[in-house]
Amino acid sequence: MNNADGVNEVVKSSNPKKAAAQAVAFLEVLETAGVILNASNEVISQSSKAESMGLVEYEKLANDELQELVNQARAEKKPKSSELYFQKNFKAPRQYISARATMLSDDLVILLIEDKTEAKRLEDVRYDFVENISHELKTPISAISLLAEALQVSLDDAEQTKKFASNLQREAKRLGGLVNRIIELSRIQAGDIGGVASVFQLGDVIAEAVDANLFLADRRAVKLTFDVIPNVEIFGDRELISMAVKNLIENAIVYSESNSQVGVGLTVDDDFAEVSVTDNGIGIPVDQQERIFERFYRVDPSRSRETGGTGLGLSIVKHAAQNHGGEVSVFSRVGLGSTFTLKLPLHKQPNERPE
Ligand code: ADP
Repeated sequence: MNNADGVNEVVKSSNPKKAAAQAVAFLEVLETAGVILNASNEVISQSSKAESMGLVEYEKLANDELQELVNQARAEKKPKSSELYFQKNFKAPRQYISARATMLSDDLVILLIEDKTEAKRLEDVRYDFVENISHELKTPISAISLLAEALQVSLDDAEQTKKFASNLQREAKRLGGLVNRIIELSRIQAGDIGGVASVFQLGDVIAEAVDANLFLADRRAVKLTFDVIPNVEIFGDRELISMAVKNLIENAIVYSESNSQVGVGLTVDDDFAEVSVTDNGIGIPVDQQERIFERFYRVDPSRSRETGGTGLGLSIVKHAAQNHGGEVSVFSRVGLGSTFTLKLPLHKQPNERPE
């Protein structure tokens, strides 16, 4: 039985006023927003959810599309459904709603509304992700195919063959890296931690992440230093946190000029550990500082591609932080440099936990 059928059951044998009151009482239990309109399209009853959504104004429906749906249900004498955007006023957030209008009696129509904003947002994010992935994968794949063709026709020229083969290798590596990151990201987004959770020393993870980046720093003539306090324990997915710290350090190096410095630190503030990665590199414009955590977003796509970036690194850091009840933030000025701070809740011994 759907909500409208349920309401129909409730009101079948009652008089219209009583029926409307009963129908609304029924909707309150279901938490569905519901509005009942009489033959002159005046609202004679509404559920508290409908009231809080602002669906009714001066006893009329506050939205023309919703009124049109009611008109259609009346005209055709059958239930009508639609999905649409609804905004109470300019200041209110835009909601994506699913609406269904059904005749309750010869005069009364009930309009049932469900808020689908979150479901729609997730659907859009998924759609964008797939679109972006296809686009990102196409670039190295077509490069590989072109390079393979070039190789075929340059077999007599050893120099050219060598050059194309090495480019081919670079593109294949890029493609592999991209696929790995996509897999990592989907794993993190599925909230896939817990099975591998353990207590670990954050200082050790930082030391390893610095170590893993020493070669890159050396190649780019960037001085990489770190200064951490001991005995900072975290409970969670060690691998994931390690990946996040590595990503931050790698970015700090690749978005710096040669002969500059990158510093990694670890401090404790209340119940949180703070890992900071500071560079004096190119910096990030203030209006883009929120967007860099989105998947595939890059301030300068050509520079990022040149350095082998995928646009997924910070998105991985953000999700890794969130999965652990932490967060990542950035302070940056163009031309001066950036500091990324990864904040993670400290592991509490059983006797330190609140009752
Ligand atoms: P990418 O693989 O392109 O580096 P990220 O998700 O790691 O992707 O970063 C997104 C974008 O944020 C980068 O393309 C770059 O424009 C910017 N960015 C990240 N870290 C830094 C940094 N330390 N300094 C300047 N820009 C940065």
